[in-house]
Amino acid sequence: MNNDLLSLLPQPLWQYFGQICDIPHPSKQEEKIINFVRTFGIDLKLETVVDKVGNVIIRKPATAGMENCKGVILQTHLDMVPQKNSDSPHNFDTDPILPYIDGEWLKARGTTLGADNGIGVAAALAILADNNISHGPIEALFTVDEETGMTGAFGLEKGLLNGDILINLDSEDEGELYVGCAGGVNTIATLPYKTEVSLKNSVAFLVSLKGLKGGHSGLDIILQRGNANKILNRFLYILLKKYNIRISEICGGNMRNAIPREAFAKFTVLKRFASKINLETENFVQIIKDELSSVESDFTFEVKEVEMPATVIDKAAATKMIRLVSACPHGVIRMSSEVEGLTETSTNLAIVEAKDGMFIFTNLLRSSVNSAKEYLQEVIENVFELAGAKVEHSGAYPGWKPNINSLILKTMQNVYQAMYGKIPEIKAVHAGLECGLFGGVYPNLDMISVGPTIRFPHSPDEKVNIPSVEKFWRFLVETLKNIPTK
Ligand SMILES: [Zn+2]
Repeated sequence: MNNDLLSLLPQPLWQYFGQICDIPHPSKQEEKIINFVRTFGIDLKLETVVDKVGNVIIRKPATAGMENCKGVILQTHLDMVPQKNSDSPHNFDTDPILPYIDGEWLKARGTTLGADNGIGVAAALAILADNNISHGPIEALFTVDEETGMTGAFGLEKGLLNGDILINLDSEDEGELYVGCAGGVNTIATLPYKTEVSLKNSVAFLVSLKGLKGGHSGLDIILQRGNANKILNRFLYILLKKYNIRISEICGGNMRNAIPREAFAKFTVLKRFASKINLETENFVQIIKDELSSVESDFTFEVKEVEMPATVIDKAAATKMIRLVSACPHGVIRMSSEVEGLTETSTNLAIVEAKDGMFIFTNLLRSSVNSAKEYLQEVIENVFELAGAKVEHSGAYPGWKPNINSLILKTMQNVYQAMYGKIPEIKAVHAGLECGLFGGVYPNLDMISVGPTIRFPHSPDEKVNIPSVEKFWRFLVETLKNIPTK
């Protein structure tokens, strides 16, 4: 362990963080850290449970006089994202993370630091070990595999936890309180097509749209960037109406949780219309540039003549496909009424492809309001089913609807203001958090998420702001002292 850590405050938290750095703990390889945390609880003579999926729960009774407080679950995840610089010899299976102090920040040599969520784990351990902090009944919940599948949160069983309040220690901005997240569902539609021999007297063109900004389909959907599938399709629709083009290939986007940045299509058109295509392209590009100039500056949209394909997609199915992409919703559907600036409901028309006689349309829908997500599922289902496509929904997980009347929110706002002289900002994220899943299993939990300031998580530039850790710690300790009674 780097002994410099022991010079930092609060000392026990940093000591435990140093120990965590010494234990390799990438996602899906958490046996060693599970064992460390389990032993930690047993050594303190606290009730310690490891559930079926590997989540560890440690219970600490209330301190004297605090027995009537609401029970608090302190929740963190045990795994870290293993990322390193290409020149780093680090082996995540065996090597310790090497943290070092750089001014106000703690960083790691060549790798992710694992402050996400190692600082939260260390804070929970420090609370469990400290006999001078006043608190009501505590359950520390350490989940596994948050980063690559939320396996721990998905696997958490009913009836295991007794607490009334859950404080998640996995957010990344000191001075902000997180009160909501989005749930999601994949909505995938399929529409069969046949192929037919290409028309004579035709020429073929390849359209390539590249260089859109894309981004995370939840967090970045509010930025209203271009969707490659939508833009390319809009061009195809113009050509379909005017020149009766035939489609031979189409593909756009490649990840359901990324806004599509690229799309390609091959089409054929009668020779007598071929000379029109250039001008149509120029006009179209100008329209898109005008519409998206402030959000998309660097994209390219090229149309070039290519060799004629032997076959094309049958006209009826291709027409349906183009009209479906045109009609299918994409982007922000509704903003939150509770939290300013938060996207409540959105959908990403992520992937459009033609493969082996089937068009496949992949959408990822998100909402912090579960009923709104279900309604959006129906809307998209209706669009596709009207055209005779088949629709399936999969991988659904619940959201966490912001509750501005939350008791723990009020408590923490008051405590923070009394300590630091300002009211912390209330935030929510339009992406999945473990809290959404906890709320699904324990619907009455009053939840909130806090953390120290972490920058560039999931990358070798990850760093945690050292003074923010102390502020976060003191805030947490003071909150525990002020938990309302039952
Ligand atoms: Zn995390």
